[in-house]
Amino acid sequence: MRALQYRTVGAAPELVDVPVPVSGPGEVLLRVTAAGACHSDQFIMDLPEDQYIYGLPLTLGHEGAGTVESWGAGVSGLQVGDAMLVYGPWGCGRCYTCAQGKENYCEVAATQGIKPPGLGAPGAMAEYLIVDDPRHLVPLGDLDPVASVSLTDAGLTPYHAIKQSLAKLVPGSTAVVIGVGGLGHVGVQILRALSATTIVAVDTSEQKLALALDVGADHALPPGEDAEVQIRDLTGGKGAVAVFDFVGAPVTTSFASRVVGIGGDIAIVGVGVGTVDVGFFSTPWDAEARAPYWGSRSELMEVVELARSGKIHVEVEEFPLSEAPAAYERLRAGTLRGRAVIVPDAHKAPL
Ligand code: NAD
Ligand code: ZN
Repeated sequence: MRALQYRTVGAAPELVDVPVPVSGPGEVLLRVTAAGACHSDQFIMDLPEDQYIYGLPLTLGHEGAGTVESWGAGVSGLQVGDAMLVYGPWGCGRCYTCAQGKENYCEVAATQGIKPPGLGAPGAMAEYLIVDDPRHLVPLGDLDPVASVSLTDAGLTPYHAIKQSLAKLVPGSTAVVIGVGGLGHVGVQILRALSATTIVAVDTSEQKLALALDVGADHALPPGEDAEVQIRDLTGGKGAVAVFDFVGAPVTTSFASRVVGIGGDIAIVGVGVGTVDVGFFSTPWDAEARAPYWGSRSELMEVVELARSGKIHVEVEEFPLSEAPAAYERLRAGTLRGRAVIVPDAHKAPL
């Protein structure tokens, strides 16, 4: 089958032919219907060799959707052709955290070498995908896989970050979204769907600011001192109750700490190595900063329900698998509207 693999540190990902995988005991084989391209893929492909820990060759794609093709011994309750989304942050399923569905924070995944598809295990940018356990599948029903696949990360990750701050997002409050790309443009919609907060989007790109307004932001501002002043003005000097930073660069985390208000939250979601210096004299009283990772299994179900009810959607640019390298070039250039979604080319690899 065809697969998009990162094969050499520092090189572009390549299309290769690899054997169709066979589901082992407990596993499910999906025929891939869609896979999303995330900035995190770019991030790991930019890492120097001594920091790269995801294995080579790596089939990319941690956002996956597919139909059930077959399964290994011990799996029951599935039917061939069932349409599924893949919950990506696989955990052990048995520790205290996993027992709550929070496999994204599995206590033993790191030590037991359990890795997400596309971030260690073979990912969804291929014709077939092995899912390690049926509990990592969420039924898609009649939702379109191309439109929905990015709910698994670009939807789930902002949802998880926003839910932690939900009690603060009361009417009259203001939330700031920094970075209106794949994650951020869904984040704006989740804020709109779950709260009455005023949403201020901040992005360096004019097109992304236009997208932010299209999907429900109340204000869209380029970053900088003017934006800080405007956020102070909009909030009557109070600052934001929550700042969701989908860039996470030093310049944005320091912006976040200057626009957050007393008791406000800063969620650093972007992996841009920025930090927030929380302290009595550096941040407003009782401000909190955290760096959430992905989301829980039940949160993915909730995100799918939000999409099913039409309250959120993912803006998608579709690419055939044979043109997936071009999708990553567009991601790097910052010219995508929403998410790039990769779809296997029409022919079906023989099993
Ligand atoms: P993306 O490339 O689609 O979007 C990034 C957006 O940020 C773009 O709109 C870009 O114009 C904007 N931007 C860049 N620099 C900026 C700046 N200085 N100020 C304001 N805006 C700026 O990326 P994405 O796929 O949405 O991912 C966003 C970030 O979240 C990445 O760092 C990614 O690695 C990370 N991520 C984290 C998790 C997690 O679990 N914490 C999960 C998925 C992705
Ligand atoms: Zn991702």
